[in-house]
Amino acid sequence: MTDIARRGVVVAGGGPAGLAAAIAAKEAGCGDVVIVERDALLGGILNQCIHDGFGLYRFKEALSGPEYAARFIDRIAGFGIDVELGTIVLDISPEGRLLLSARGEMREVDAGAVVLATGCRERPRGAVSIPGHRPSGVYTAGAAQRFVNIENIMPGRSVVILGSGDIGLIMARRMTLEGARVEAVIELMPYSSGLPRNIQQCLVDYGIPLCLSAAVVETVGMGRLEGVRVADVGADLTPIPGTERFIPCDTLLLSVGLIPENELARAAGAEMNPLTGGPMVDDRCMTSVPGIFSCGNALHVHDIVDWVSEEAERAGRFAALYAAGEDPGGGPRDGVRLVPGRGVRYVAPSRMKCGAGRDDSGVLLAFRVLEPSRNGVIEVGANGTVILEERRSRLHPAEMIRIALSSADVARVRGLGAGVLEVRVR
Ligand SMILES: Cc1cc2nc3c(=O)[nH]c(=O)nc-3n(C[C@H](O)[C@H](O)[C@H](O)COP(=O)(O)OP(=O)(O)OC[C@H]3O[C@@H](n4cnc5c(N)ncnc54)[C@H](O)[C@@H]3O)c2cc1C
Repeated sequence: MTDIARRGVVVAGGGPAGLAAAIAAKEAGCGDVVIVERDALLGGILNQCIHDGFGLYRFKEALSGPEYAARFIDRIAGFGIDVELGTIVLDISPEGRLLLSARGEMREVDAGAVVLATGCRERPRGAVSIPGHRPSGVYTAGAAQRFVNIENIMPGRSVVILGSGDIGLIMARRMTLEGARVEAVIELMPYSSGLPRNIQQCLVDYGIPLCLSAAVVETVGMGRLEGVRVADVGADLTPIPGTERFIPCDTLLLSVGLIPENELARAAGAEMNPLTGGPMVDDRCMTSVPGIFSCGNALHVHDIVDWVSEEAERAGRFAALYAAGEDPGGGPRDGVRLVPGRGVRYVAPSRMKCGAGRDDSGVLLAFRVLEPSRNGVIEVGANGTVILEERRSRLHPAEMIRIALSSADVARVRGLGAGVLEVRVR
């Protein structure tokens, strides 16, 4: 190992979250910002997302993933932000010392502040335990996307997709466009877990059947997959006897959920949120470990990249202030806890600061509901007082909902002296 270098803000991960955080840290005045990315290029998962639909909110354009990433990568070079590609962050201590590995060499770096922007990974086959042998032809949807869009390899010709999340839906269209036949998309829940626009554009437009309340109960085949057995499921999500049917296929793509990538946050001792799989953060995106921040899919799984970039800018800005010793926020465990109430799965951030001396320009809450509904009212309340309510014509678990508390709302919470603020649906 060589001498320990001292850096200002170190960003782990060069996907859209890491790119936006690094730019924001630089704009907030940090003279020494470095992105550490294990891959050979910046852009993260966007590099394999060659479909359009990125940047609709931020740039008012339907960009492809690489085009969206390029808007940020171009600025990184212009800003003089250091980039270390092919370098993995292996460990972080609670004091902000990082262990990096590149080309067989290990070295340590001390950071004034760290932003964890390491994204998420797909749940593998083992996580859904489908009975059957272990034939080839079973892939996660993201792995298949990489094969098709980057490696130019077709995983198969007749395909069943398990899970109707956005990656599964997008791969249904992609495989069809590449000449495969997509037999069906199988979804355990009585509703799709993908965005409505993706159901329309990726399944309906191509006549691909979506089987709701159904499960793959067996993979058939020894060497190569020959088909899957599918059964309907009841309200308890277990298969209904007698509903089994066989769907011949040579490929099964699994799109059964994403898990925030958080070994580093755990290694640093950050308090984790079991509801999101990410660390608990306050409204600066700071974890329970002072000076370590988290954003993007590492914090909670986002459906829209525009919101990833926005959240990461907040993390980068506050990381720069922390590194400069100008952080206005107080200790990581101060402030009001934000908790999910009736009908809400999780809320991010987990805490908001409303202490004196902080520039309270408002707080943006992001959350997901537990089940679909129409004309639901979102309520944010504390100590029996409703601080804010908003009616939404449609609420769906697939769509992350964002609701802004103004500085006046935050002041009201402060006035109530509440320790807990609840977000619920009625
Ligand atoms: C198939 C698919 C389709 C999508 N479609 C859309 C869409 O149409 N519109 C839209 O707005 N959004 C879409 N999204 C969502 C959007 O792409 C994600 O929300 C966004 O990419 C998340 O950004 P991120 O930076 O948090 O994570 P990522 O993009 O995953 O980036 C994380 C980066 O961290 C790096 N990394 C991880 N661990 C380490 C480590 N220890 N050391 C160094 N580097 C590390 C990884 O290599 C990676 O480059 C889609 C996502 C997927 C997967």
